[in-house]
Amino acid sequence: MIVKQDIRKLHHFINGTFVPGTSGRFSNVYNPCTGEVIAHVPLATREEVRQAIETAKSALPQWTALSGGKRSEIVQRFRQLIKEHEEKLIETICEESGKTKEDARGEIQRGLESVDLAINAPHMVKGEYSVNVGGDINMFSRKEPLGVVAAISPFNFPVMVPLAQTSMAVAVGNAIILKPSEKVPQSALYLSKLWKEAGLPDGIWTVINGDQEAVREILENETVKAIHFVGSTPVAEYIYQTGTKYNKRVAALGGGKNFMIVMPDADLEKAANAFIGAAYGAASQRCMALSGVIPVGKETADQFVAILKEKIAKIKVGPYTDEEVDFGPVISKESKEIILGYIDRSLKEGAKLVTDGRHPEIAKNSNGFYLGPTLLDEVTQEMGIFKDEVFGPVRIVVRADSLQEAMNLINSHELGNGVTIFTNNGAAARKFQDEIEVGMVGVNVPIPIPVGYHNFAGWKRSNFGTGVMFGPEQANFFTKRKTISEKWMDMEETSQTTFSFPSK
Ligand code: NAD
Repeated sequence: MIVKQDIRKLHHFINGTFVPGTSGRFSNVYNPCTGEVIAHVPLATREEVRQAIETAKSALPQWTALSGGKRSEIVQRFRQLIKEHEEKLIETICEESGKTKEDARGEIQRGLESVDLAINAPHMVKGEYSVNVGGDINMFSRKEPLGVVAAISPFNFPVMVPLAQTSMAVAVGNAIILKPSEKVPQSALYLSKLWKEAGLPDGIWTVINGDQEAVREILENETVKAIHFVGSTPVAEYIYQTGTKYNKRVAALGGGKNFMIVMPDADLEKAANAFIGAAYGAASQRCMALSGVIPVGKETADQFVAILKEKIAKIKVGPYTDEEVDFGPVISKESKEIILGYIDRSLKEGAKLVTDGRHPEIAKNSNGFYLGPTLLDEVTQEMGIFKDEVFGPVRIVVRADSLQEAMNLINSHELGNGVTIFTNNGAAARKFQDEIEVGMVGVNVPIPIPVGYHNFAGWKRSNFGTGVMFGPEQANFFTKRKTISEKWMDMEETSQTTFSFPSK
């Protein structure tokens, strides 16, 4: 049972302390399972953000002066504290995002993979060394922190994405300004307590809550040297274009439209089980969720749709307090309206309703933002629901006559985050791997998300710039390379001026 509480007043976390907002502007934080406002989160002014950035800058020398090993110890303690406080974190994630407890546990586990990698930061910033590259010169490079850096997070992974964006940034010696989604700010604020308890010096981890105004300051402030953004494609593009205009290093990961190709030789039962979880889990609010399936051939399509229909009928939607639930509500009333709009338009455009999730049973007695699983068949390339990322539990079937036609549909899409094929045919799988234009590719794997020590990034309009999430590339993103050529003169040695590049 969800107990009704007073509306909490949330703060920012600046210089190791929770401080109230001064703007007088607030945003509602909802419990999507009940539709109730549970907290008010302050929306920072540009001046508040500016001051927070200055505080972070002042804290830097103390942090960068520590050895990599000492910094790692603090990150290790942070990891330990996340494990110790896991149940409280799960409750916080569930309450503000509506996802199930098992899903929240999984999200923390994936987030910890980034912390684990960050514990190894000293190894990752070792640099290179060459003895006597010519003329008794030794050459070496090292990776130095950038200074104050920022992360801007989406709502759908309140813990995993902030951990993936910030852990390495902190571990390699930067000070981080995190602006979480105003829809799920409590999880990031909770992480602040854990960093403090782990011994992170005040000012190195800042959580500034806000909307476009706060982001504007982050984009334009000269002290901020890099921005790591994860969110929707239009905002990612805006952050990339504006941030780079202000000479910042920018990683901007956007949305996805991820398809599963099902070949005629695939085990349809296994493929359907894989599809259902990856398509509808977390109410389809994952950038790597399967948005649709492309069965190859009419017979495969007819059989696959029939199996899906049977399985979808068994999906249970409800609040995270019910352990039997498969997925919860979507994040907001507005989001629910947008999703319903897509379903209605698709039906007018000629799509066929296989299962109708528009009015789930649970919604009759709850103000929560619930939608059941909808499946639409005979969707075509021209429809809006094919073109756009729809962040909610409506999934599509697009029919194709051949593997080539299925791949053409995917390759012509403007997004390219994830994709998968289910087949027992090695030649088909090989052709798919070679020719598909998507960043993260699965073969008989429903959601091909790289583990924490591999780099995560989509292609095309799913990712602007060359930044990644997770993975060793993060260490490069959050450091700048210095290459030093060093020579110590022999006292006896003579020297002379040369005007050309040495050729011997
Ligand atoms: P969003 O783009 O609406 O918001 C992301 C962040 O940007 C939030 O902190 C928000 O406050 C801020 N923001 C929103 N509009 C802004 C604007 N006009 N100017 C400045 N800042 C703005 O995304 P969301 O709805 O919170 O998250 C869902 C989206 O994130 C989906 O598109 C999903 O695919 C994507 N996502 C991508 C990945 C990935 O790795 N590629 C991972 C998770 C989520």
